[in-house]
Amino acid sequence: MAHVTESTSVSAAPGLSAPAPAALPPLETKRSFVREHLNLAKMGWRAATELSFKALWKAGYLYGWKGFKAIRAYKKRLKKDELYPPFMFIALTNTCNLRCHGCWVEKEGTAHYLTPEDLDRIIVSGKRRNAYYYTLLGGEPFMYKGLLDIVARHRDCYFQVITNGMFFNEQTVARLRELGNVTPLISLDGYQGQNDLRRGEGVWEAAQKGLARLKQAGIMFGVATTATGKNMTEVMSDDYVRHFIQAGAQYIWYYVYRPMSPEPHFEYCVGKEQLLWFRRRLLELRRTQPIFVIDTYWTATGEAFCPAATGLGFHIGPQGSIEICPALSFARETVRDAEDLYPVINESPFLRGFQQFVKERTKGCVILEYPQQLHDFIKDAGARDYSGRGTAFAELNGITPRHSQHLAGEEIPEDFWFYRILKSQVFFGMGAIS
Ligand code: SF4
Repeated sequence: MAHVTESTSVSAAPGLSAPAPAALPPLETKRSFVREHLNLAKMGWRAATELSFKALWKAGYLYGWKGFKAIRAYKKRLKKDELYPPFMFIALTNTCNLRCHGCWVEKEGTAHYLTPEDLDRIIVSGKRRNAYYYTLLGGEPFMYKGLLDIVARHRDCYFQVITNGMFFNEQTVARLRELGNVTPLISLDGYQGQNDLRRGEGVWEAAQKGLARLKQAGIMFGVATTATGKNMTEVMSDDYVRHFIQAGAQYIWYYVYRPMSPEPHFEYCVGKEQLLWFRRRLLELRRTQPIFVIDTYWTATGEAFCPAATGLGFHIGPQGSIEICPALSFARETVRDAEDLYPVINESPFLRGFQQFVKERTKGCVILEYPQQLHDFIKDAGARDYSGRGTAFAELNGITPRHSQHLAGEEIPEDFWFYRILKSQVFFGMGAIS
């Protein structure tokens, strides 16, 4: 379940012994109206006092207001059976300075980069359809020369940049502050020990320095953490979340591990009981911690959804391939097929066929639930493997089917009005469909 995002691939280090699965701690049973609303006020206070005016204004206008309009336009398109997403994931390059265990991005082979012309084409095509929000990822997007020039060329758009957090020197941070329309999302998976085990020694320390600079400059940033069956209680603990609140993060974005990589670690997958706990704990954190807690797995009513199957977002690979999502690097079309991407996406038998494929099976993630059927569908659709590894078909075929976010009959709706509204009305970060 990618979702989408998870550009931040995560899995355990091969050969490292996995920590024993922790018992799931009990969840609060008593709610407090006063405490929950005080928490909400604190969240607003944090944003007002910790962010620069520019960062606050740009997030409110470009992310909040334009996101609301993008979702409205998307819903109108849905009614007319038109396919064009309100947001897009764009992998600028496959190069990276780190070698995190289990990462699915192929970094050792040919280095690929989207050209500035590709990027302008994607963004200009999107703007014509009210799509002003782009998530930039890699590899490591800060290794893409000209990253901030793209942002500067499209100041009417809002960009989220998913990064390992190692590139926030004073000069870059000053430029980010001046631009205001970028929110870095730093991938960290657990405290120093767990994180550095996967990402390399010193990564946690370097990222913390980067966070401190971002905080100092009043930049809106978040932390992306992938929950696995082994680290779930640690990364969803109050202490973990508070650490990043103190570090200045305005939002924490949770992903759930999925085994789509050349080195899959099935023992890190999340079982159904853990998923139910994860979902309940998300709601609890939303009510009790002064930070936006984001997932893109469930709607306001607690139903599972796949962003690609609903047409909310697709992924563009560094070779320009238009892919289903970051985890599925297969494509038939590229961004170089036409000047305007609307007909390319709208008329893609592959992307439309994928939607139908999912609709007939689940509301959750077909990678996890139907990997072999998905493999056959992609092959039959004539899509190419753009992973650079040449093994993506075999990897998909080798996954053992398991649970995804689809919790049929046990859906847990958002239980706090604020998130219900965000989930149904604002942008995908907080959900986008009700
Ligand atoms: S197939 Fe859908 S649910 Fe699964 S990882 Fe991709 S976008 Fe997420």
